[in-house]
Amino acid sequence: MKLELTACPVCGCSINKIREDWDGSFKNQKYVVPDLEYYRCKNCGEEVYPREAMQKNEACSPAFRTLTSAE
Ligand SMILES: [Zn+2]
Repeated sequence: MKLELTACPVCGCSINKIREDWDGSFKNQKYVVPDLEYYRCKNCGEEVYPREAMQKNEACSPAFRTLTSAE
């Protein structure tokens, strides 16, 4: 089952799903998640990430990269 979010959980305004390259950073390391789909409220700026977006984000984030060498 796929849940679609229709209203902002913060202000209750209608919220739109957007799809764009998402810039993130982790410990000063910048990374980009291409074509990330998530919701952003035009009214208050709240951003909501569906589970798929979180998984995609984690797949691209250095925070979740497989450890090759521990310090
Ligand atoms: Zn809002």
